[in-house]
Amino acid sequence: MELPFAESWKIKMVEPIRKSTREEREKWIKRAHYNLFQLRAEEVYIDLLTDSGTGAMSDRQWAGIMVGDESYAGAKSFFNLKETIEKITGFEYVIPTHQGRAAENVLFSYLVKEGDIVPGNSHFDTTKGHIEGRKAIALDCTIDEAKNTQLEIPFKGNVDIQKLEKALEEYCDRIPFIIVTITNNTAGGQPVSMENLRQVSKIAKKYDKRVIFDSARFAENAYFIKMREEGYGKKSIKEICKEMFKYADAMTMSAKKDGIVNMGGFIATDLQEWYDGAKSYCVQYEGYLTYGGMNGRDMNALAIGLDENTEFDNLHTRIHQVEYLAKRLDEFGIPYQRPAGGHALFIDAPKVLTCVPKEEFPAQTLAIELYLEAGIRGCEIGYLLADRDPLTRENRFEGLDLLRLAIPRRVYTDNHMDVIAVALKNVYDRRNEITRGVEILWEAPLMRHFTVQLKRL
Ligand SMILES: *Cc1c(COP(=O)(O)O)cnc(C)c1O
Repeated sequence: MELPFAESWKIKMVEPIRKSTREEREKWIKRAHYNLFQLRAEEVYIDLLTDSGTGAMSDRQWAGIMVGDESYAGAKSFFNLKETIEKITGFEYVIPTHQGRAAENVLFSYLVKEGDIVPGNSHFDTTKGHIEGRKAIALDCTIDEAKNTQLEIPFKGNVDIQKLEKALEEYCDRIPFIIVTITNNTAGGQPVSMENLRQVSKIAKKYDKRVIFDSARFAENAYFIKMREEGYGKKSIKEICKEMFKYADAMTMSAKKDGIVNMGGFIATDLQEWYDGAKSYCVQYEGYLTYGGMNGRDMNALAIGLDENTEFDNLHTRIHQVEYLAKRLDEFGIPYQRPAGGHALFIDAPKVLTCVPKEEFPAQTLAIELYLEAGIRGCEIGYLLADRDPLTRENRFEGLDLLRLAIPRRVYTDNHMDVIAVALKNVYDRRNEITRGVEILWEAPLMRHFTVQLKRL
């Protein structure tokens, strides 16, 4: 008999979590104005708000913390980090920053000017923010298939090469670079194929443009290439990473994701010109070049995290867990963005709460119901997050209305996944009794989802 699957680690340190009663949760969520960001973390049993900075470090990473070098200039920890990044990506120049958006801020301060157009595949919120904040345009060239939640294709995060070529033909002079997000977070943690990265690189060369990878989940992307793309099954994750980054000139990284640290980020590139251009912004916004926004000890932990998380067993354990939860949801017929992504499942809320009108925010209502059911905190990625149209001030209901269940790395067990699945099933079973959603009492003009105050109808 074949041995069953099990995690590639054992547990050395635990953190107790507490269950609560439905009465307590009713009181807490009311006090939070039905906004899950406003809950205290102790009021949550299983926290799936995000996979960013919520992972569990290994014993090796904690050991690295103890031997961190806090020298202002030339710290040994910086060189540990730089050498690891160079080994994995091939990029020689490294600028540490305090997190991913800071890497964007430093690099884009040098590269993006008013009136520029930056094509890419579903730019992440902060990436878009740093482009639009400089009065430039983030042009989405993701394949159309990404919008159909029920379609199962292996690389749903891909760039549509025709859309990209059209943009390059039309706006060539205004394009400072192309940005590819791996994995494509906004489309549901969906991977980009090696073939697609190769095509982007080829077309960029044709128009003499550079390519940046927004690399928060590059290791998960490499895992999907190994498992799904022809010719890569026998390659190691590190070999695949090296090949992926051959098709880029630079990367920005949120180390809070695939670096498995609680805070951190960096820029890496093999263009000395870009490094020289960006480094003064690092000194201005983040700190001196050999620490940027990070402590020496944190650079050590990150170097070790990057090395560990570009090993197959670690990634297999993680993505297996996301797929395990997906299988449980399939058993109960609960609809989500298919196939399961690398870091999260995205529940298609209007297909679950069919009686709740869109004006009453189905995904937010589902998030509240799941919290009331079992103390599980998900995150609305839907009509609330979409904000209002800047001109008409109308709510934007054109996109998807999803409940994201983000799985932290190395934190919960498959038993927790079972609790999540059954709690969702219980809500799903009484979906026809849930006929009303929420109404907005107060909202901020931008990024309202963090602070919105709601009333339950
Ligand atoms: C999280 C993330 C960022 C921003 O990183 P922070 O560390 O949160 O500042 C940028 N791009 C992608 C794809 C991300 O997932």
